[in-house]
Amino acid sequence: MTTRIRLCHLYPDQLNIYADRGNIAVLRSRAARRGYELEVIGVGVGETLSPECDLIYLGGGQDREQALIAPDLARRADEISSALEDGTALLAVCGGYQLLGRGYRDRTGVEMRGAGVLPLETVAGEGRMIGDVSIECELDPGDTHSVVGFENHGGRTHLDPGAVAFGRVVHGFGNDGASGFEGCRLGKAIGTYLHGPLLPRNPWLADWLLAQALGRRRGEAPDLEPLDDELEHQAHAVALKRARERGGKLP
Ligand code: GLN
Repeated sequence: MTTRIRLCHLYPDQLNIYADRGNIAVLRSRAARRGYELEVIGVGVGETLSPECDLIYLGGGQDREQALIAPDLARRADEISSALEDGTALLAVCGGYQLLGRGYRDRTGVEMRGAGVLPLETVAGEGRMIGDVSIECELDPGDTHSVVGFENHGGRTHLDPGAVAFGRVVHGFGNDGASGFEGCRLGKAIGTYLHGPLLPRNPWLADWLLAQALGRRRGEAPDLEPLDDELEHQAHAVALKRARERGGKLP
């Protein structure tokens, strides 16, 4: 009997830039190679988020698209918080990440109220932070990883005191180009500015999310059998070299 992992993709039509949808393709493929089926449910404005969701996913989006979904996402604060308490894992990229905080003020001064699930807020600044990025990340104590991706955001995200970042910036801008932090982590929920898409070049992170999603029903995250990631590691090395050469330089 194939075990099914249920992924709820919030706002697939509005929050989907920089091939963020590719993250789902990676999750589906890596799940299938271990005999799991990834069931993907798109959840649009006004639609119900399944209470049986193992993994929630939000992609990135331009200010205009964010404004289209922000009121609906803000109304889901309790729904998402209780899902996280129930052990659901979550990955949110860029525009989706920003709106899981208390809010985002865009470059025209428009205030978008957020879901307030993540301890942070975002304000658009002068110029966009664009380029290849590499960060150092430790989701499990003593298990440090390099994460690579691509960022393009006008927003500067400020974590609350005591909030945990997803990683430490090695090359690139990260949350605000000053704090040295990138993203935010709240238990099994991860918010990040890293597009690319993120997961093809960071297969360990895809596996971490799948294991956390499986852990919702099993009580603990299982060890997934390793896969041959030679190609992924080569792609990671290329992206790391690019980040080293040109990450974090304002245009
Ligand atoms: N519109 C937001 C910003 O500019 C998010 C952009 C994105 O998702 N790439 O900061």
